[in-house]
Amino acid sequence: MGVRSGLLVKTPLEPWIYNKISGRVGMAGQITRQMIESYQLHHLKTTLALAAERSPYYRRLLTGLALDKIGSLKDLRNIPFTTAADIKANSMGMLCVSQSEISRVVTLSSSGTTGRPKRVFFTTTDQELTRDFFRCGMSTLVQPGDRVLILLPGKAPGGVGRLLAEGLQRMGVHAVPHGIVQDVRKTLEVMERERINALVGIPTQVLALARYGPPAQNNYGLSVKNMLLSTDYLPRAIIAAIEKAWNCRVYNHYGMTEMGLGGGIECQARSGLHLREADLYFEIINPDSGENLPDGEEGELVFTTLTRQGMPLIRYRTGDLASFIPNPCSCGTVLKRLTRVKDRIEGRVPLGGGGYLSMSMLDEALFAVDGVINFKAAIAAANGPDRLSIEVQLADWAGREVLDQISKSILSISEIAKNVHQGYLTLAPVQVDRSAVLWPPTKRCIQEPSLT
Ligand SMILES: [Zn+2]
Repeated sequence: MGVRSGLLVKTPLEPWIYNKISGRVGMAGQITRQMIESYQLHHLKTTLALAAERSPYYRRLLTGLALDKIGSLKDLRNIPFTTAADIKANSMGMLCVSQSEISRVVTLSSSGTTGRPKRVFFTTTDQELTRDFFRCGMSTLVQPGDRVLILLPGKAPGGVGRLLAEGLQRMGVHAVPHGIVQDVRKTLEVMERERINALVGIPTQVLALARYGPPAQNNYGLSVKNMLLSTDYLPRAIIAAIEKAWNCRVYNHYGMTEMGLGGGIECQARSGLHLREADLYFEIINPDSGENLPDGEEGELVFTTLTRQGMPLIRYRTGDLASFIPNPCSCGTVLKRLTRVKDRIEGRVPLGGGGYLSMSMLDEALFAVDGVINFKAAIAAANGPDRLSIEVQLADWAGREVLDQISKSILSISEIAKNVHQGYLTLAPVQVDRSAVLWPPTKRCIQEPSLT
């Protein structure tokens, strides 16, 4: 087990990163920021050289830049960004290996209506780094002998669920790959039958499990101790609801396919994400000017891969908003801490009477209502005030009183109340979907159908 600082175990990512940097299995505490940063600088230069030599896309982009003059991490700021649109248009041109060396291609269909899908390529070595990150990260919350249900897609070789299961098996944890939840009752039966005591899933899916029975009724006599919820944004209201229903601890993982699936995970302090700093170099930038922001200021998260072979990404703009937390984590690590990602830049919808509405505001208000398991939101501009429509998916037992609470909760968002009061916004009656099949998890955002 890791080194204790007070009552908290230090993040296992620290000795893991120390080991990757030094090549030695060492005690936590021997690592310094300076060691991490000189390792990152070395690998940044290697990545830039690899991309300039092997990738036709990056060769063009990096031509004329004095890559050999890069002497500090700050010098990276002179290198252009890579965007999601760049990947869509040039994914093949970003490859640094021959196609025969690619073992996994992930195709991400865009949520919008236009454009090509994003394709991200990985070699066997790239995938092994992810498996190893999952093994290390999961040791924050599970131990040998635990029985972990994996409610993630990708049970096939190379898929996220499979890589996680393989990582867990390496540490003597019994992994039960399940896939996405469709029928809540059936999944709860699997949990009971398999004597599951930890799980990894997507927030709204696990919320649906936790809210299957009426409040205060114990679901199936489960004894889940710890769980990891993996997503771009994890609402506090969902954490509170699940922890209350199951008397367990919720940890947050943040990652995206472009990062190699894994990006960062909370330690036992659960107050910010520690990052996969040996494989990824993170920056926070002002999304408008592109300038780097100091720790503590919120901006767009940007990362550069340090060890990726198949398709390195240089200064990739995630579109996610977060900040680095300036003061050290109470677990005592020297690793950086990222706030939970709050919103997508494109996910903030401006309101006519001032301010904006985002999915995270709606999430906190609506998921706080017991009985809500998911919802969709849309804002349409007609020839008058904007109209906000919300469709909710409710637990079976939820009655009329839950709908009343939802309406109150929507108006508890001050931006909504103000705009409704001033006549800039109207609220459509809340629609309810009571189908037994859960909505498939997708990137959650406010739809803007007729804002053209
Ligand atoms: Zn920590």
